[in-house]
Amino acid sequence: MIFESLEASVPCEGCGGVAEWHGVQALVDDSLRWDTEVSCRTCGHALAVCGGELPASLRERMLGEHGRTVLRLGAPVRRVVVMRVLRKTLGVGLAEAGDVLDRVLAGRYGATLPETELLARRLRSAGVEAEAVGPASDEFGTPQGSPLL
Ligand SMILES: [Zn+2]
Repeated sequence: MIFESLEASVPCEGCGGVAEWHGVQALVDDSLRWDTEVSCRTCGHALAVCGGELPASLRERMLGEHGRTVLRLGAPVRRVVVMRVLRKTLGVGLAEAGDVLDRVLAGRYGATLPETELLARRLRSAGVEAEAVGPASDEFGTPQGSPLL
């Protein structure tokens, strides 16, 4: 399974002690999942939340801890086909998809591993040679905290 995860210590709702928090973004079949789980060793309190959206702040932390996975396309790039997949997968308009594609071609589009892998898979099933490569170092000078889409 393709996934990236985060861990943190949070206050336990059961006993007020320190509980372990675990968040996982995973690529399951053809979609992204974000599941979190809290468990306390002291009192045994446990809570799992499945199928939510990955919050932007945690996504930034994920990118910070794991690096950005870059999408690489084989040449020649069929723009129309790639744009169609980008629009459908990212839920963006034509102009934004063009902007994302330009960054992909410049090697500057980076996302989490499950997100990039999903794009690569959908591109490959559309007949486009695509690969998720990462995690990338920040050699391209991507500004931290800037929106990626
Ligand atoms: Zn507890």
